[in-house]
Amino acid sequence: MQFNKVTDQIVEELKAIVGQANVLYDEEKMEMYSRDEVSDKLWEKMPEVVVKPETAEQVSQIVKLANRELIPIVPRGAGTGLAAGAVPLNGGIVVSMEKMNKILELDTENLFMVVQPGVTTGEVQKTAKANGLLYAGDPCSADSSFIGGNVATNAGGNKAVKYGVTSRHIYGLEIVMPNGDIVTFGGKNVKDVTGYDIIHLMVGSEGTLGIVTKIWLKLMPLPKYVADLLIPFADMQTAIKVVPKIMTAGIIPTCLEFMDSLSIKSAEMYLNKKLPYSDAGAYIICEIDGTSETQVQDDYETIGKLCLENGALEVFVADNMSTQERIWKARKCYAEAIRMISPVYCMEDIVVPVSNIPKCLEAIERIAKKYNCKIPSCGHAGDGNIHATVMREGRSEEEWHELKDNVLGELYEEVYALGGNLSGEHGIGAKRAEAMNKHMTDAQLSVLRAIKKALDPNGIMNPGKVLVLE
Ligand SMILES: Cc1cc2nc3c(=O)[nH]c(=O)nc-3n(C[C@H](O)[C@H](O)[C@H](O)COP(=O)(O)OP(=O)(O)OC[C@H]3O[C@@H](n4cnc5c(N)ncnc54)[C@H](O)[C@@H]3O)c2cc1C
Repeated sequence: MQFNKVTDQIVEELKAIVGQANVLYDEEKMEMYSRDEVSDKLWEKMPEVVVKPETAEQVSQIVKLANRELIPIVPRGAGTGLAAGAVPLNGGIVVSMEKMNKILELDTENLFMVVQPGVTTGEVQKTAKANGLLYAGDPCSADSSFIGGNVATNAGGNKAVKYGVTSRHIYGLEIVMPNGDIVTFGGKNVKDVTGYDIIHLMVGSEGTLGIVTKIWLKLMPLPKYVADLLIPFADMQTAIKVVPKIMTAGIIPTCLEFMDSLSIKSAEMYLNKKLPYSDAGAYIICEIDGTSETQVQDDYETIGKLCLENGALEVFVADNMSTQERIWKARKCYAEAIRMISPVYCMEDIVVPVSNIPKCLEAIERIAKKYNCKIPSCGHAGDGNIHATVMREGRSEEEWHELKDNVLGELYEEVYALGGNLSGEHGIGAKRAEAMNKHMTDAQLSVLRAIKKALDPNGIMNPGKVLVLE
């Protein structure tokens, strides 16, 4: 695919669309748009220009201009992605959604919130909560990620075990299509089978099929009672084998997470606070919510008993806000804590059927031993979603790339042999495009390519992400 460069003339046209103040072309100001949260320099590239539209009409005009001139468009949310999805690796125009950051409507009668894509996930959660409602999407990055980025990556997160991933909470989207048309699918109707399910095609399309400019989010009643359990185990295998037992005990936990010993130690170091049983081989963290206090108590007692019968060292119950916050801080600081030990690392996002997590963790341990490297793991145990992180530590650039290629190559083979996939929630972006294209069948890939070609014949929309450039 041959693309053209952004010329001075195009910059002038962009200024005419969004106003001079919303166009950046100075390298110092564009630096923060040259990367996301992938820590490897390989996945960084300076944009040619950054624009900050304020309306869907402006987004439409930018996309029409890019189409006319054959210039790549890279939609960008908060840049918290872990797949280099928002990085302009093939040059072009970065379209930052940061100024489309308004909550447009809170409909407490129909349980909907209508928002622009640049609202942070945390603000959506807080606004819902202040009105006695729950927005159940809850990625660990919620304080900074944008809701539009969550839609584009179909973000998962902690509460997905009970409430599902982002796609379950989206009932309508306004999208600027790759030809610049502004279209709306869905809205406030809970049931809607009018035509193809375009919403669920767009959710998770990582900015390769269009730019999301408005979102109808489903809300639900806020559970009145919440309890968190922190359950230490002597070793990872004993801990993780309890997960399928919890999942089949007749209770749906809100969250069911795990941390291995290196993740616990790193969190303790990062938070500079002693964590309970921090010498344990693993933690299971479990949240229960509900509308009845006795029901929540019955549920956590059942889970606690089950864990103690299956090797837990202790069961800590946190039923007040401050202890709950402490537990979640330890789990949510995983990325920052790992970065303290090894500033360059490669966080993976593999997913396997829940009953195969023990085998997958064994494989990770085997690979780490073989290549003499550290691969701490933590993640969403209830979903089979494992964040295994290869650490560079003292290796040279060359040694690091060799290590990463070997480890990821073997890890993905193991994951597919266990019936898994290479990304559960972080997405493919540019970082995993080659690996995904290798592991999908030709028939699967031809479906994906046909969709891309039909909607984006010039291939300008986030090129090189998800699908390898042809
Ligand atoms: C500490 C940490 C914890 C995390 N925890 C989780 C977790 O628990 N679960 C999880 O799923 N992810 C997690 N992530 C990954 C990341 O936060 C999510 O992928 C998030 O959804 C990205 O949102 P963003 O606004 O930062 O998007 P960006 O990183 O800016 O973009 C991500 C992708 O979406 C596209 N995009 C962004 N906005 C739009 C739009 N309006 N229209 C079309 N395309 C768009 C971009 O082109 C890119 O391909 C975590 C990341 C960090 C750093």
